[in-house]
Amino acid sequence: MNVDYRSTRGGEEHVTASMAILKGLADDGGLFVPETMPKLEISMEALSKMTYQETAYEVMKLFLTDFTEEELKNCINRAYDEKFDTEEIAPLAKADGAYYLELFHGNTIAFKDMALSILPHLMTTAAKKNHSDKEIVILTATSGDTGKAAMAGFADVPGTRIIVFYPKNGVSRVQELQMLTQKGENTSVVGIDGNFDDAQSGVKAIFNDQAFAKEMDEKGFRFSSANSINIGRLVPQVVYYVYAYAKLLENGEITDGEPIQVCVPTGNFGNILAAYFAKQIGVPIAKLICASNENKVLYDFFRTGTYDRNREFILTSSPSMDILISSNLERLIYLSCGADAKKNAELMKELAQTGSYTVTEEMRQFMCDFIGGFATEEEVAAEIAHVYKNTGYVIDTHTAVASAVYRAAAQNGDVSGERKTVIASTASPYKFARSVVEAIKGKENKADDLDYIDELHEISGVKVPNAVEEIRHAQIRHNLQCAACDMPQTVKKILGF
Ligand SMILES: *Cc1c(COP(=O)(O)O)cnc(C)c1O
Repeated sequence: MNVDYRSTRGGEEHVTASMAILKGLADDGGLFVPETMPKLEISMEALSKMTYQETAYEVMKLFLTDFTEEELKNCINRAYDEKFDTEEIAPLAKADGAYYLELFHGNTIAFKDMALSILPHLMTTAAKKNHSDKEIVILTATSGDTGKAAMAGFADVPGTRIIVFYPKNGVSRVQELQMLTQKGENTSVVGIDGNFDDAQSGVKAIFNDQAFAKEMDEKGFRFSSANSINIGRLVPQVVYYVYAYAKLLENGEITDGEPIQVCVPTGNFGNILAAYFAKQIGVPIAKLICASNENKVLYDFFRTGTYDRNREFILTSSPSMDILISSNLERLIYLSCGADAKKNAELMKELAQTGSYTVTEEMRQFMCDFIGGFATEEEVAAEIAHVYKNTGYVIDTHTAVASAVYRAAAQNGDVSGERKTVIASTASPYKFARSVVEAIKGKENKADDLDYIDELHEISGVKVPNAVEEIRHAQIRHNLQCAACDMPQTVKKILGF
């Protein structure tokens, strides 16, 4: 079955997967969605015997139908190799009654590696297929993890450049050092004086600026995106939910067809939307638990039907989820109003103009598989300590948001406490060592986050990842900063206009 893509705002239809990846965002500012939802073509039983790479092929071929088998397998094999520190790529750890799906075994020790290891290969393949001879300029807004993972993926990839914008005071020290020490002639990192939403809005505005696009075209460049607004990010993320189910089956934890629950620490709504897509293609997932930190816009949305970003932006210990405008929710909104692009476009316009919108009762009904929850900073710290004391397993702050939300939801009956539950574990605790160690041992107020690394090693017994060892000694290579309103000028300067 051939799968094409269309914009959630109605401006474009019948776009091939490779073109959608190349463009990132549709011309009308909408996001690309599959025009038809494919179904898994082989049994879970067969999938349960497959490697991660084989599973990736079975899933991705359903969505990227204009890629040949050879192209896709080539991309997969170059992405999921020794960059990952385990052959399983995404292992499941059973602890304290849940299954933590560890998505942080890649280059930059956060789940963004799962998709960003393969996106550069998909993108350069897509450029070739579409005979695009322009240099691809990847513009990316990051709340901390995407930026590093995208740069690691695109560094020195011929025919590409990458420019990353991050909130100067909104990422962890390890996250910032990871970005500022990034090698690669084609990489640039810019700290902005604003939060993630400012960075994301700035990037989207540049994408939507037709005059800028024309200038780019004349100079031989074209923009694309490494954010989860790009379908090339979303599709590889569907894979690990299929893989997790198949592994639970293989290990005898579930029977074939038994529904499971999935709980995802959420910011931009990309990861949990991938879980929803996994359900759509046939993975038996009963409920999708959307876990927020104190920036609980999504919790309020699922509770009331009103999305309202008019509130204080809170900096938390889970910075990669400090987001008030969850881009990917637009895809769910579009699907929930019966693929009515006009209705969706109206709601998005309302969001842009007033900062809020309300969906209909019917749309809420459509989304009834989603359950929202949130955890406070105190609850996150308590959860890290609780899981550690009960099992010796150490989780990071983002994963702890999900873990705490799941525990509370199971206790008060919002979700089943009996059903097997997969919690997306999105970052290595080493990435947020200060918060994690202090949650377990109490406040220590050491000068530098890096001072907590050895202590975390003692507590967890887990080897210090290369990604952390590297930044302890690496040289700082980037020092650009700008005001959020100067992002377009900064891009031009970097590209030499
Ligand atoms: C990006 C990120 C998230 C949020 O994922 P979304 O797809 O934006 O919802 C959660 N945890 C970590 C560690 C992340 O890097």
